[in-house]
Amino acid sequence: MGSIEVTGPEATHVEELDALVIGGGFSGVYQLKKLREEGYKVKLVEAGSGYGGIWYWNRYPGARVDSHAPHYQFSDPNLWKNWHWKQRYPDHNELRAYFEFVGEKWDLKKDTYFETYVTSATWDEKQYKWIIKTKDGRTFKSKFFLPHTGIAASRSFPDWKGIGTFKGLMVHSSYWPHEQPDLKGKKIAVVGTGSTGVQLSQTVADIAGELVVFQRTPALPLHMRQVNYGPGEQPKPQSALGDFFQTCFKGRWGFDFDFVPKQTFEDNEAQRRAVYETLWEAGDFTYWLGSYTDMLLSEEANNEAYKFWREKTRARINDPRVKELLAPEKPPYPFGSKRVPLEVSYIDMFNRPNVHLVDVNETPVVEVTEGGIRTTEKLWDFDVIILATGFDAVTGGLTTIDIRGIDGQSLKTKFDKRGPTTYCGITVAGFPNMFFSSGPQAPTAFCNGPTCSELQGDWIANTMNHIRDAKLSSIVADEKSENEWIDHVEAVASMTLVPKGRSVSDLSPFLSYDWRKQEGGVSVS
Ligand code: NAP
Repeated sequence: MGSIEVTGPEATHVEELDALVIGGGFSGVYQLKKLREEGYKVKLVEAGSGYGGIWYWNRYPGARVDSHAPHYQFSDPNLWKNWHWKQRYPDHNELRAYFEFVGEKWDLKKDTYFETYVTSATWDEKQYKWIIKTKDGRTFKSKFFLPHTGIAASRSFPDWKGIGTFKGLMVHSSYWPHEQPDLKGKKIAVVGTGSTGVQLSQTVADIAGELVVFQRTPALPLHMRQVNYGPGEQPKPQSALGDFFQTCFKGRWGFDFDFVPKQTFEDNEAQRRAVYETLWEAGDFTYWLGSYTDMLLSEEANNEAYKFWREKTRARINDPRVKELLAPEKPPYPFGSKRVPLEVSYIDMFNRPNVHLVDVNETPVVEVTEGGIRTTEKLWDFDVIILATGFDAVTGGLTTIDIRGIDGQSLKTKFDKRGPTTYCGITVAGFPNMFFSSGPQAPTAFCNGPTCSELQGDWIANTMNHIRDAKLSSIVADEKSENEWIDHVEAVASMTLVPKGRSVSDLSPFLSYDWRKQEGGVSVS
C-alpha cells in the first residue's frame, strides 16, 4: 500500500503530531503527561466529555472501585500531597472528582479533544505516519498511534429474542443516564453477576419494590470493608506514600501486599484457619491475591480456600436453594481464577422476600416481552431491566476502530482470524509505532489499574525515546516475536488455575487460537 493522500475538505484540518493518544482513563492521561514531559507534540482524544475512562461512563448505582485506598491513584507526589480520599473504596463520583483534579494539576485540557470518537487509523508506509480520522471530521497525521482504549470500551448485550420490544427502561450498566432514573419501588431485573452486577444489585435492592438477579455463573465475591475518612484521616500517612508506590510497582499485582510466604498445607488446619481469618478480616483483595503461594496453582490448595469462603458465605444465606446457587458445594471454577468482586450486602440481600435469584442455566431466558423477561419457568414483569452483562472485554475498544497496518491489514480481521495476538501485550505484529495498555496477553484484569498504566506508559515512552534517539522512523514487532510472547504467556498461565475460570472477560488475556508459527524478528526502519 502506498502513501495516503489527505484530500478534500478534510485536508485543511490535518493536525500533525508526534503521538495521538486515545482514551481519557488512567492510561491515556498518564501517557499524555509523560510524553509531553519527554518533549513530544501529543494530543489526547476522548469520546466522553470528561476524564475518567471507565469512571466517566460507570455511573450506575453503587459503582465504586474494588482496589482499596491508597492504591487506586497516580504515584505523582504533586497529586497525592494535595488530594484527600473520602472513602477506602471511592465511588464513581469521587473518582471523577479525582480525574478532574488530575486534569487541572497536570494541565491536560489544552491538549485534549473531548467528545471526539476515532473511527479509523491507517498506517501510511511512505510517510511512516498514522492517518487517524474522527467521526466529527478531524484528521491527524501522527508518527505514533496510542489507543489506550481500556478493557471496557465496547459493551456486550444478550442476544435474547425480543430484546428490542421491552417498553420499560432497559439500560446497560456502562451507559447509565447522567440523570439518575427513579428506581424507587420499581420491579427491577439485573442481568449479570460480575463486579458490576454485584455492586448494582446490592445497591438497587435497598430501593427496589422487587429485584430479580439473573445469574449465569456465581460471582464468589469477597466482603468489602468500607471506611469513610474524616478530615485529617487517610489510609496511610503521607510520609509513607513515596515508598508505598515503589512497593506497588514491584508488587505482583500492582498492590503493596504479596502472598503469605508458604504453601497451604505447610500449616495445620488451625493455623490455616487463623491465616484465612486474618486475610478475610482485611475486607479487600488479600484473601484472593495475598493468600498462600499455591492458592492459584494447586486445586487442592484452591479447594481449601474455597471451603473457607463457602462456609463464611453460606452462613449469611437462609434459603438452601440460594445457598447452593451462590456458594455451591462444588466450586463452579477455581476460586480466584476469575476477577473476584467485592460486596457489602450482595449475599444477605437474597434473604429479603422481595429479592429473587434466577439461574439462567436452570431456567433459560426464552424471550424479552413488552413487559418483562420470560424464562422457561415463568414470565417476570419488570419496569426496569439493567444489563450488567459486561464488555467485549480487552480487545473491543481496539477492534471497533478500523485500524489498518502494513499492507492495509485490518486489526479486527487479524484478531478475528487468529485471536487477539500481541507482542508483550503492548503492540501487534504488522502495526508499526502502535502501542496500547491493558491489552490481551498483558496483566490487564489482574493488575491494579493506575500501577500498570504508569508502568506500561513508561515502557511506551522509553521505546519512543529509543526510536527518536536512534533516528528511526518506525518499529514493528513481527509474528515470530508475537508467537514467542504468546507461548510464554500461555506457558505461565497454564502453570496456574486461571485458564479454568470461565469468564471470557478475565480469560481473554490468555486466550489462544491457532497461532501460526513464522520466522522473523523485531524490525526497525
Ligand atoms: P463482566 O465481568 O464481564 O461480567 C458480566 C456478567 O454478565 C457475568 O456474570 C456474565 O456471566 C453475565 N452475562 C453476560 N451475558 C449474559 C447473559 N446473556 N445472561 C446472563 N448473564 C450474562 O462485566 P462487569 O461486571 O461489567 O465487569 C467488567 C470489567 O470491569 C471487569 O474486569 C471488572 O473487574 C471491571 N469492573 C471493576 C469494578 C471495580 O473495580 N469496582 C467495577 C465494575 C467492573 P458469565 O460469568 O457466565 O460470563
